[in-house]
Amino acid sequence: MPELRQNRVTKEWVIIATERAKRPEQLSVKRDIKPLPEYSENCPFCAGNEAQAPPEIMHIDHDGRWQIRVVPNKFSALAREGEPTRKIERSRRTMNGVGIHDVIVEGRQHNLTTALLPEAHVANILRAYKMRYNEISQDPRIQQVIIFKNHGGTAGASLEHPHSQLIAIPVISHQVRERFHEALRHYDEYGECVFCELNAEELSEGSRIVISSPHFLAMEQFASPTPFVTHIYPKRHMASFGDIREEEVVDLAGVMKSLLAKLYHGLENPDFNYAIRTAPAENAGVKYYHWYISVIPRLTKVAGFELGSGMFINVVLPEAAAEFLRNVKVPESQPAAAGK
Ligand SMILES: [Zn+2]
Ligand SMILES: [Zn+2]
Repeated sequence: MPELRQNRVTKEWVIIATERAKRPEQLSVKRDIKPLPEYSENCPFCAGNEAQAPPEIMHIDHDGRWQIRVVPNKFSALAREGEPTRKIERSRRTMNGVGIHDVIVEGRQHNLTTALLPEAHVANILRAYKMRYNEISQDPRIQQVIIFKNHGGTAGASLEHPHSQLIAIPVISHQVRERFHEALRHYDEYGECVFCELNAEELSEGSRIVISSPHFLAMEQFASPTPFVTHIYPKRHMASFGDIREEEVVDLAGVMKSLLAKLYHGLENPDFNYAIRTAPAENAGVKYYHWYISVIPRLTKVAGFELGSGMFINVVLPEAAAEFLRNVKVPESQPAAAGK
């Protein structure tokens, strides 16, 4: 019998289609991986081509050279200058498209991927996220900051060079507001952060846990909309990503790297997105919200039912996905680079 499961936080239902369930390894596709060069002449993010990108906002050095660089997005979705003036005309609401759109260049080399980077390098990527997040959160025009990564064509990446992005917007998105309201409602009713409660329950049950480190918990979602959606939660209650401490950055780098390496080796370098879901800066200290990273491998396609209902059909049992990922052995010595 297929099972409907409800997401405790968002109240969304998903169909876990056990009848047509797939074993997790069936989603691993042998891809035609084309090896990428270490350097590409026309890539604005390769070391040596810095002049092809807009002037740098900040960088983090390693061995006397930049390792992480943050630059404005050349094809920015929003205008950096200006005021987010609202207009209401009869039933139509509009606002000036003001905001910030950064690119975080994750390394000097064209053909690196997070799953194969040293942990210290991943930690520097996270430090760049934190610095930009805290800086931009001071901007009175900004309401919400989204940090995300698109890896591979089906995940929306248009440039091969490893990078992530930050978009800061002058409104709170509908999805974030919904989650916020639900979390607040839960807090009102039970006096507890719904995410802290969930983490404690999942830890004691264990079947959906992939990695448990000193400060973080990576786990499959009970009502996962698509296969292998993995959330990484800080174990300490913390509403805003900007409040992450240095020892937590170091620990998170290890968890990120090993989760992405498990996906890379277990599912043949799948396309994926990740996003940091955090409380808006002005709600940094609230007791009812808890930030996390959502890692979403792009293994299946969204079709008519999903678009028509907003509900998903998931063909892999989250518990089977967790067990599969726990068992993926990541080779100790890895090549420095990989194709995509
Ligand atoms: Zn490049
Ligand atoms: Zn919490």
